[in-house]
Amino acid sequence: MNWGRQYLLIGATSLVLLGPYNDVVQRVLAGEDISKRTRHGQSDLPRFREGGLDVEVFSIWVPPEKKSRPYFDQADEQIDSIESLVRRNPGQAGLAHSSGDLERLVKDGKFVAMLGMEGGHPISNDLHRLEHFYRRGVRYMTLTWNNSTDWATSAKDESDRAARLPRKGLSPFGKRVVRRMNELGMMVDISHVGERTFWDVMKVTKKPVIASHSSAWALSHHRRNLKDNQLRAIAKNGGVVFINFAPWFIDSGYTAKETALQERYKARIDSIRKSIKGDDFIKDQFTAEALRVEYEPIRPTLATLIDHFDYVAKLIGVDHVGIGSDFDGIPVTPRGMDDVTYLPNITRELLRRGYSEGDVRKILGENFLRVLREVERH
Ligand SMILES: [Zn+2]
Repeated sequence: MNWGRQYLLIGATSLVLLGPYNDVVQRVLAGEDISKRTRHGQSDLPRFREGGLDVEVFSIWVPPEKKSRPYFDQADEQIDSIESLVRRNPGQAGLAHSSGDLERLVKDGKFVAMLGMEGGHPISNDLHRLEHFYRRGVRYMTLTWNNSTDWATSAKDESDRAARLPRKGLSPFGKRVVRRMNELGMMVDISHVGERTFWDVMKVTKKPVIASHSSAWALSHHRRNLKDNQLRAIAKNGGVVFINFAPWFIDSGYTAKETALQERYKARIDSIRKSIKGDDFIKDQFTAEALRVEYEPIRPTLATLIDHFDYVAKLIGVDHVGIGSDFDGIPVTPRGMDDVTYLPNITRELLRRGYSEGDVRKILGENFLRVLREVERH
């Protein structure tokens, strides 16, 4: 499991993007102390270090269905929670707002936290709010989550509600959001947006974009994965696709296998779900934990995951692929990738497939740094 770890640590910055659902930020909000090793989830500070991670981009994500308080305030509180986590652990971690901060902190041996925002709904329809989040350190924004905003349509809505959408793609205000993000130095993240929005963004953006957690559509037809022409457009734009580890993203046969498993163990699953409080994600997570043995044979292999890195690298070049994970956003992971401590398996597998050390460093973090620097430049 320690194979390749040195490559994660020498010079290059490695990073992983965490998923939004019940992710580590939500766990911190719920009062969990992730500066210590935790029994749940797929990440915490000790495990980040054990996995050889230098940098983690934390996802600020406000559930769009929780309208009890303004989305803006909820996002602000999540940023507070990450800031205070870092403040409480000054010897261990630091918060970076720029590539310069990031490099300084890595040199000092600190674990680096950065902020991204998943879903544009917390800015409502107000560029001042976008600027506010930029000032607080948010360095990428996924234009939509599964829900569309007034100014951009999501992959989910473009596929499930196409007929009922008033329009598709970016509105004129949406184009202003992209332009303002370019000016500020905030990366535009196209994971989660629909194809129409994607092509609108590619026409408007003057800076490289990222797909923070998507995989290759050619290998698995999930609506959040990227088609070959989208991948080529991202390469032309200088951007990076960070591969998502979710079984249903990487293995086209997974959903059918999981449905069969759920039918077979229906009674047991129903009683587990009934006994647990919380949203669907929490219920999914507990179910997957309780049925660990039953899930084992349907988990995709590590090779299936690496195939996505390999596919994107071969199609558009090794400069345009990175690690997106979605750890703590997915209840089931591929085999050999149980949590962040298993990340060196990616290094090992890429080296085994003939990738050079230089290629691997790009995938582990140098590609991210390149885009960050490019976007920071005025
Ligand atoms: Zn997501």
